[in-house]
Amino acid sequence: MTTVCLTFDFDAVALWVSTFKSTSPTPVSRGEFGANVGLPRVLKLLTEKKIKASFFVPAHTAASFPSQTRRIAEEGHEIALHGYCHETPVGLSRDQEADLLDRSIAKLRNVLGTDYTPKGYRSPSWDLTENSVELLVERGLLYDSSMMADDFRPYRARMGDRVDEEAFRPGTSSPLIEIPVAWELDDFPYFTFLNKPLYSGLRNPDDVFQCWKSEFDYCHAHVPGGVFTLTMHPQIIGRGPRIRLLERLIGQMQKQTGVAFCTMAEVAQRVSAQLDGK
Ligand SMILES: [Zn+2]
Repeated sequence: MTTVCLTFDFDAVALWVSTFKSTSPTPVSRGEFGANVGLPRVLKLLTEKKIKASFFVPAHTAASFPSQTRRIAEEGHEIALHGYCHETPVGLSRDQEADLLDRSIAKLRNVLGTDYTPKGYRSPSWDLTENSVELLVERGLLYDSSMMADDFRPYRARMGDRVDEEAFRPGTSSPLIEIPVAWELDDFPYFTFLNKPLYSGLRNPDDVFQCWKSEFDYCHAHVPGGVFTLTMHPQIIGRGPRIRLLERLIGQMQKQTGVAFCTMAEVAQRVSAQLDGK
């Protein structure tokens, strides 16, 4: 069986404030588009296709767009952690990183209710520190989705790796399940246009459909029990032709036998039990 996880990083304005250091009206408006135009289109499509997805939500987004954030949860989707204001943890001290995680959970609880309990985390920069895994385990999280040591098979994240110019010496496995991501399966590099050469984006959605479909076909044919994870952003995938691309891709995947869509929390629970031999 192949599991498909549709994941959406609901970065909204936080991406522009933090990652791109842009708080002038036009970049901010790109974040607003995500919250007010892209997100409703994504949610409508998920409802039509009867799919539950995982949304990674910075605390800044939840505080800025509380009704949109609550709507995601009310429609049965998972809400997981994605930084305080979409900052990278890299370079933070252990205490700073712990503080931001705790403040993020508290701010999400202000919007989602005191019983909100995150199951997962995705680093806004898709990078972690030597403390991240331990801090996530301490807070009861089941999974992370930021690393790339496999393509379609979740694995246990490690603590205590040693990496230097002499050698790479892996540390010990943690209880945290890593559900890997890939730039090839992220809408950001394909479509984002910035005034920087790294993001020249604006690709034809038909080309991206072919890229994603051939990745899925390989997973479904060659990786038994594989987990096919797409990373998308409402402010990017939410434009009309791109939503159509996602609709077509979902249709193609749903036509195949042995394909199930579920949230990352569901995948993490299942994989954790499998790896424990239960
Ligand atoms: Zn993000």
